[in-house]
Amino acid sequence: MSFVTELNAIDATGELSPRLRRFADLVQTKAPGELEAMAQQATALTRQHFGRTMRLFAPIYVSNECVNNCTYCGFSRDNPILRTTLTVEQVVAEAKYLVAEGFRNILLVAGEHPKFVSSGYLEECIAALRETVPGISIEVGPMEQPEYERMVTAGSEGLVVYQETYDREMYKKLHTAGPKKNFDWRIDCPERGYRGGFRRIGIGILLGLTDWRADALRLAAHLDYLYRTAWQTSFTISLPRLRPAAGEYEPEHFVTDAEFLQIMLAFRICFPQVGIVLSTREPAALRDALFPLAITMISAGSHTEPGGYTGEGADDIHLTVRGRRVELEDEKAPTPTCGSVCQNGNNTDAAGQFQIADERPAHEIASKLEGLGLEPVWKDWDASILSTTTSI
Ligand code: SF4
Repeated sequence: MSFVTELNAIDATGELSPRLRRFADLVQTKAPGELEAMAQQATALTRQHFGRTMRLFAPIYVSNECVNNCTYCGFSRDNPILRTTLTVEQVVAEAKYLVAEGFRNILLVAGEHPKFVSSGYLEECIAALRETVPGISIEVGPMEQPEYERMVTAGSEGLVVYQETYDREMYKKLHTAGPKKNFDWRIDCPERGYRGGFRRIGIGILLGLTDWRADALRLAAHLDYLYRTAWQTSFTISLPRLRPAAGEYEPEHFVTDAEFLQIMLAFRICFPQVGIVLSTREPAALRDALFPLAITMISAGSHTEPGGYTGEGADDIHLTVRGRRVELEDEKAPTPTCGSVCQNGNNTDAAGQFQIADERPAHEIASKLEGLGLEPVWKDWDASILSTTTSI
């Protein structure tokens, strides 16, 4: 059994379960009064299931090398950007910076490149971080179940993998080269991760690629399926909107702020227990307005380029031209397109995946949460919880 079968059935027949029919209705055009009623219901459900907590995390981009061409992504293979891959020691340096900022949940992010970002490299990074970072998740190229088992054994507890879009035709159009072209292989990734032992799994869509109502409905169907088949893990959903990036992809299906809010409310109402992630792709004012509603997990103070917090990785900066490495002395380096200046003033030059919109430092965002009556949660997991040794 695979979600592919259910997705194909929905695409072919349009038949939906009662929960999905409700979701489909909630994402139809609503009058302002109806949206307000949805917001009140969603807020009450969030308080009921999550209290006033807000989990904080920060990404560490360990590499911006990638063998795929995803038309919308700054890291696409054919984008002539400055690239680097951090050594394990450099990843640890980035993590220490974030730990000093207060973070205990870190997401390791990388482009998909088997040579630079091998499973062995990731395993080493996770193992090197596990003593100082209790919550380590990964957002990297899809793997087989045995590789996921190795990541979990090394100390990772969370897996994030977005389908980007559930629209097969659009997916084919947007993913023009590399292993990511395989739609079905990617869609089965959360289940492989579940069988591999991850205790948290995040799925999502990239808003702006296709009709958002159809895509959100299929994401809801995927979540519904995973709750039935992978029920021992906890799930989050993420709904990132496209941001400017190298390659200058222009979204064909713009999602307004009101529509963005409506999707999150619909998810909260239909899936009261799901974690909903809001990233620094959204501007500060909008984030502040959304925090009290359906959101349960946010990133803060993020950088999307390798070495973005400390300047690590600057020793191996190089250019790629159509996937081929070109040393900087051979080629004039282009001006970095986004995210090139670290919070501590270092300049890495490595290109970011996309431009951040909320650039506030983490402590400022934590203060904002407290001002809204919410509780910033920096740490909510420790491997010792699973220890079988008990002391009296
Ligand atoms: S979205 Fe991921 S796989 Fe696609 S180009 Fe960007 S980093 Fe590579």
